[in-house]
Amino acid sequence: LASRLPNVGTTIFTVMSALAAERGAVNLGQGFPDFDCDERIVEAVSRAMRDGHNQYPPMAGVLPLREAIARKIEAIHGRAYDPETEITVTAGATQALLTTILATVHPGDEVVVLEPTYDSYVPSIELAGGKPVFVSLEAPDYAIDFDKLARAITPRTRLVLINTPHNPTGRVWHAADMRRLEEIVRNTNVLILSDEVYEHMVYDGAPHESVARYPELARRSFVVSSFGKTFHVTGWKIGYVAAPAALMAEFRKVHQFNVFTVNTPMQMGLAAYLADPAPYLELPAFYQRKRDFFRAGLAGTRFKLLPCEGTYFQCVDYSAISDLPEAEFSKWLTTEIGVAAIPVSAFYHEPHESGVVRFCFAKREATLATALERLARL
Ligand code: PMP
Ligand code: GLN
Repeated sequence: LASRLPNVGTTIFTVMSALAAERGAVNLGQGFPDFDCDERIVEAVSRAMRDGHNQYPPMAGVLPLREAIARKIEAIHGRAYDPETEITVTAGATQALLTTILATVHPGDEVVVLEPTYDSYVPSIELAGGKPVFVSLEAPDYAIDFDKLARAITPRTRLVLINTPHNPTGRVWHAADMRRLEEIVRNTNVLILSDEVYEHMVYDGAPHESVARYPELARRSFVVSSFGKTFHVTGWKIGYVAAPAALMAEFRKVHQFNVFTVNTPMQMGLAAYLADPAPYLELPAFYQRKRDFFRAGLAGTRFKLLPCEGTYFQCVDYSAISDLPEAEFSKWLTTEIGVAAIPVSAFYHEPHESGVVRFCFAKREATLATALERLARL
């Protein structure tokens, strides 16, 4: 069989989690919490099942959940999306991203992506027959070169894909960055796909700058988020996309033949749980404590800390410890030191070595303490 994705293997997250399990290492590789979610959200979903919410929901998602999502976006960002026509519930952010790309990118269209880039973006673009155009960001601060970004946009550009807070670098877009992007896309037909799955993990009092806050961006944007990240339930695979009605109509044409619908009881449970904003409003402080604990521990090691403004990832420079390439260093760290990490090189399309790996700190303090004790031996 001629492969549709000849360059794709098993994702680095799966590979490193398997190696961590095999070696009994502390898994700070793949991004997921090692603690359980709020009992109330489990209760809300169980109640929905007992109440008989067990058949197909409407194609775009149950209305109470779409309404709750619209209220949340309007309360935080001041932009009203119509739950009927502008919000769709998806099977996680991964499906939202793929469906958006399939719905918008025609064969031969160019899609601008900023590297390091989340691993599902490029294969999704290739499945649509699009051509990824890379703008690379470099350690240690991964600053966005907006002149380079502007030059990457051509008459063939269909979509620009952005991700804030950013996996893996923890970099966050600020208001000035959003305004630069507005200037760049003004007077073009370029669409934006904004991956905001870590929207509730922005630290040090900074706001999350959603594209939804900027009219020039919002009118051309698909905004993607994931309840898996926000409510510590990565295995639930449920998220959403918000976009202006004309864009959403195209999204739904693909969505209905992609998954058709997403499971009903979780949607009903989430709709009830979202009535209380406290769980997501408290998230920045919750994860900031973990970030600060982990960074304080790493400060006593030979790893050099890179900035972490958002997400639950901390990147470190290990060049004082080893000159192994990132993938080999990550494997060595897992098998010999007992702490799994993710090589940042996995987020670039060409060989790219900067001596940086990513740790996930969405873990119990005891887990982080065990990892830190091992990392301090290096
Ligand atoms: N985008 C980014 C940047 C992510 O880190 C992740 C989760 N690893 C996803 C999308 C996918 O989210 P989900 O699990 O909801 O599909
Ligand atoms: N998004 C998670 C990460 O970056 C992993 C998701 C996955 O395993 N595909 O670690």
